[in-house]
Amino acid sequence: SPPRSSVIIIGAGISGVSAGKVLAENGIKDMVILEASDRIGGRIRKDSFGGVSVELGAGWIAGVGGKESNPVWELASQSGLRTCFSDYSNARYNIYDRSGKIFPSGVAADSYKKAVDVAIENLKSLEANLVGELIEPPSSPKTPIELAIDFILHDFEMAEVEPISTYVDFGEREFLVADERGYEHLLYKMAENFLFTSEGKILDNRLKLNKVVRELQHSRNGVVVKTEDGCVYEANYVILSVSIGVLQSDLISFRPPLPASDQFLSCFAGLSMAKSMSKFPSLRAVKYIRVHAACALQLLVKRWKAEAIEKCDVMVYTKIFLKFPDKFWPCGPGKEFFIYAHERRGYYTFWQHMENAYPGSNILVVTLTNGESKRIEAQSDEETLEEAMGVLRDMFGPHIPNATDILVPRWWNNRFQRGSYSNYPIISDNQDVHDIKAPVGCIFFTGEHTSERFSGYVHGGYLAGENTEFLLKDFQWRNSICQCSLYIL
Ligand code: FAD
Repeated sequence: SPPRSSVIIIGAGISGVSAGKVLAENGIKDMVILEASDRIGGRIRKDSFGGVSVELGAGWIAGVGGKESNPVWELASQSGLRTCFSDYSNARYNIYDRSGKIFPSGVAADSYKKAVDVAIENLKSLEANLVGELIEPPSSPKTPIELAIDFILHDFEMAEVEPISTYVDFGEREFLVADERGYEHLLYKMAENFLFTSEGKILDNRLKLNKVVRELQHSRNGVVVKTEDGCVYEANYVILSVSIGVLQSDLISFRPPLPASDQFLSCFAGLSMAKSMSKFPSLRAVKYIRVHAACALQLLVKRWKAEAIEKCDVMVYTKIFLKFPDKFWPCGPGKEFFIYAHERRGYYTFWQHMENAYPGSNILVVTLTNGESKRIEAQSDEETLEEAMGVLRDMFGPHIPNATDILVPRWWNNRFQRGSYSNYPIISDNQDVHDIKAPVGCIFFTGEHTSERFSGYVHGGYLAGENTEFLLKDFQWRNSICQCSLYIL
């Protein structure tokens, strides 16, 4: 029979690794970590580009300088991770139109204020419509500058609505990780606490890379996990840390399937059928009633898991890196971020130069999201380079040099990610996140999308992974039952 461990953790991103660390600290060392890719880190991932280390996934430690300390900032400080302060607030004063003119600061400030007012009015009308009052939504952005600012507010600044829990709890400052060891160095530091490492490499055979989980069979007795390469693992519990995008895809099948409301309804249909059958009692009818009643009760507790997973939006966020032989963009204070205003919303809108992070690197980064991200993921990097150069020539003139290299991450088409991070609807109670987080039998769910206050962030993933108390309680309870029965025997 396959090897059985106490816990299998699926996914070695920040939440999977922090879950492993907490389990080990609580004496549960008998674990296996199954990771689909050939590395740990998940959406924290560095790559070498143009002679420096760039972050393809998470780049910033968001939420610093407030009343509470952000745990990820603490980890970074302990590890001596090199970071630079980012001040996005200047970006709105560096907005270029298609002829390369910068909008005067007054125009930009007015447009920004108008966009914020529109966003607040939109929210009010959405809330009012939900309770049945009809309020006309304000007019939507139309001009290139309005569209650019709308994009910055809604797609870049994480589409959250004030008050943003990260800023309230941890402060409003954001620091860009600019360290050759990468953001992922924090994960190696955490792994060192509970996995065997040597010379910066994890050599512990409890961590199994290139293990793509395809099936979870769960019952009261535990979970059987099957991987793409035909391996089978068994455990008392599973901690599933794959992204919301992966949960929405068909990469992993659950047997039995995750509870859904149509099952819920069918249970009730089953129940009423069983009820009518019970008028003619027979052994079969009684069994039918019992099975469906148990099923309905279970679904009442873990309601609409599958629907909650479907409902959560997935944000696609892509940073494209471009390397140049020389710098042709303005540097110095207040110039790190700049914006391109185009009539197509989100078309190569948000730019950053990397001179503060890596002086002399001659690298620019442009951020695309959602539809634009998916569009460029589907085309060749040469086509993307041509488009980006067209935009830069609009802003800085026809004589700028061509980029010598381009790096385009593809988070949407990566079957182990299927997007960049979870994006709960603006108006949503916490029920969705509770449903997504709720365990199903012996399967526990973690990952940034299970964090009530910090979904979408690295610290959300970290704190969600740390929160293994449900599992620990169940584990202790089962252990004490075992000990009691041994004692009685
Ligand atoms: P993941 O890191 O996705 O870990 C899940 C792991 O599961 C992965 O390693 C994956 O390979 C593995 N897996 C998937 N399917 C399977 C399977 N079938 N079998 C086995 N293993 C599987 N956050 C910030 O705080 N600041 C930022 O600046 C920021 N910017 C971002 C920019 C981008 C482009 C992206 C993509 C994300 C960004 N984030 C940012 C979000 C942050 O990266 C995530 O919230 C966080 O890293 C998620 O960690 P996680 O452990 O929940 O998931």
